[in-house]
Amino acid sequence: MSFKKVKTEAEKAQDEVADLCSRLVQFNSAHPEGRTDECVQFIKDYFEEHGIENDVHANNPVKPNIVAKLKGSSGRKVLWVGHLDVVPEGKPEGWTYPAYSGKITDDGLIYGRGASDMKGACAAAMVSARILNEFGLLDNNVEFWFTVDEEIGGVDGARWLAESGRLKGDVCVIGDGNGGGRELPSIDLGCKGGAGTKLISRGKTAHGSTPYLGDNAIRKLIEVIPWVEKIKNYRLELPKELEGPIASSIDFYMRTQKIETQEQKEAVKRLFHYPTVACNIINGGVKTNVVPDYAEAQLDIRLTPGSKPQKVKERIEELVKEAGVPGVEAIVRAGETAGYHESPDSPFANQLAETLEKATGKKPVFKILTGGTDAVSIKQFTGIPCLGYGTSLTGMAHQPDEYVTVENLVLGIKVYAGFPLAYEG
Ligand SMILES: [Zn+2]
Repeated sequence: MSFKKVKTEAEKAQDEVADLCSRLVQFNSAHPEGRTDECVQFIKDYFEEHGIENDVHANNPVKPNIVAKLKGSSGRKVLWVGHLDVVPEGKPEGWTYPAYSGKITDDGLIYGRGASDMKGACAAAMVSARILNEFGLLDNNVEFWFTVDEEIGGVDGARWLAESGRLKGDVCVIGDGNGGGRELPSIDLGCKGGAGTKLISRGKTAHGSTPYLGDNAIRKLIEVIPWVEKIKNYRLELPKELEGPIASSIDFYMRTQKIETQEQKEAVKRLFHYPTVACNIINGGVKTNVVPDYAEAQLDIRLTPGSKPQKVKERIEELVKEAGVPGVEAIVRAGETAGYHESPDSPFANQLAETLEKATGKKPVFKILTGGTDAVSIKQFTGIPCLGYGTSLTGMAHQPDEYVTVENLVLGIKVYAGFPLAYEG
């Protein structure tokens, strides 16, 4: 089976993939409910119509996952994983077309919540399964998985599938994220991880009119936060093999994100060699006339894969000590590793890069995602190597007026159907 044939089939499927993406968008699978039963039924009907073997796996009846299974003659198995759940649409005023319209425009855009993140990629994977099925017996076994709950950590989705032993394979392509389209093709080598930190401040309550009799927990908390933020100057120790991908990641984000100020530019340059830190939740106080005896803050601290989270944790604890404010302590959630990453030199990475080059005519770069995908739990529970290639567009995920281009979805089919043919282990 040649890549040329995949290319021809993918280009013929332009209207089909646009229609499937639009139809998937029309099923509201937004959290907090995040139900995927309608989407899964729709996908199942498509697979049945095309004679594709499939199974539904549900840990929660309204949140099923579905897999398409294609037979191969070798013992190898290639997985593809994508998610069907989406984030809420936000205010209707933000949308030119209603959020679940799935509107297809004349210039080849599909609008709606999830078009980019990532029902578009799921539509491309459905078509890929159909094309590969029509090719007959393949060399590799291939499974396309459509999951729930990615946006909330994979509870009944990838995490459950991985933990319960349902996901088995040699390599896994993650369809999430922004693969740079035709212009800037890129493969995701890994995802950052976290060292989430909670600061707890304890003081002594008093009447608001006599603050000198109390010990204000909020005031102490506010004093310590800037000390913890100094972690952004802690230089991370990173594996040598990631220096190349880090340089290309910085270049990718510089070119694709909306970077306007010098300060933002500097932040992108430091994005992988240093932790990022954002104090995103503060709680404390009960009444204006009561001096609070308790307050807490939660900081989102992100680390590059391959760095040493335990050392960062130690440094954060030191910083809190250095602040010298009694009654404030830090609880740092840090594991042995942060996120995950694959080697840029593995046969898997090379073969996926070759497929992407055939599909776009350009040599792809490797990058590291700043956020997490289903790959993190798949890697954690199964050890299956995961690389990402997504059809999403820059700056689209979780935004109002989210859209995707039909062109990107056709590209997605070429990669998702092309790679299982190219993979040699
Ligand atoms: Zn996503």
